[in-house]
Amino acid sequence: MPTAKRHISFFDSVAVLGLPWYASFHGRLFSFILNFMNNQTWNIQQFDTWCRSFLTIDALANTDDSLNGIQVGRSNEPITKVGFAVDACLESIRRAKELGANLLFVHHGLFWGKPLRIEGVLLERIRLLVDNDIALYGCHLPLDMNPVVGNNAVLADLLSLQERKPYGVYHGVAIGVAGVLETPLTIAQIVSKILPDNSKPLSVIAAGKEKVSRVAIVSGGAASEVTEAFGTDIDLYLTGEPSHSMYHYVVENKLNFVAAGHYATEVWGVKAVARKLAAEAGIETVFIDLPTGL
Ligand SMILES: [Zn+2]
Repeated sequence: MPTAKRHISFFDSVAVLGLPWYASFHGRLFSFILNFMNNQTWNIQQFDTWCRSFLTIDALANTDDSLNGIQVGRSNEPITKVGFAVDACLESIRRAKELGANLLFVHHGLFWGKPLRIEGVLLERIRLLVDNDIALYGCHLPLDMNPVVGNNAVLADLLSLQERKPYGVYHGVAIGVAGVLETPLTIAQIVSKILPDNSKPLSVIAAGKEKVSRVAIVSGGAASEVTEAFGTDIDLYLTGEPSHSMYHYVVENKLNFVAAGHYATEVWGVKAVARKLAAEAGIETVFIDLPTGL
């Protein structure tokens, strides 16, 4: 275990007494929780175990093109600082290095469903990671759809969305969320809640009700998922990127459509995981903000 200090815990005493339930699932779960409380440091495998305890990485292995989980490994040395970013671009990795992070957790990783030659820019990114013993951890759809720390769940929190139900079925899995606002809001009021820095959304199609009650959300590049709202009681569809080919369908279905930015709608998940990591493991975190404006 990569921890400097070793406490004699309640579990050590139980182990000495040889009680059989020590080896049970509940015993191991309790031990896992005690590790959190003892503020032990983790190696990359322990970080992976923690992520898989709340992100449905295995369940989405055949649905998501992204290679979720560890994309680039590192030594077994303790992880003392984790960088969080939306994209695994060279600049994110450079900043992670400068900030002294041992691991970079991203929403958009390097590997997407097909074998890649490790050359050119990809080689540069991987070389920078490996040379500095920085692991890369990717989490795409499991992060979008997570009901607590997911991009869509946090966006729904920002809008105080009630009566939530799954929305945006992709390959049989609902990635997004739909729900009802506490009080009806204008499109401008909704935008100000999800873009608190007063930045402008990429695109607004105001073709529906002036006061919006029911909202559906799928973060990122999910303009075509608007079609699921046609013919329903949803008043506004919120996503990241706009789509020319959807424009007339949205207008003719008298729906409101907001594309608030792919980046802007997907900073929330990684930030929520960072807060969870700091709270549960006491590991230092840093958010690496590299907006694309898209
Ligand atoms: Zn995305």
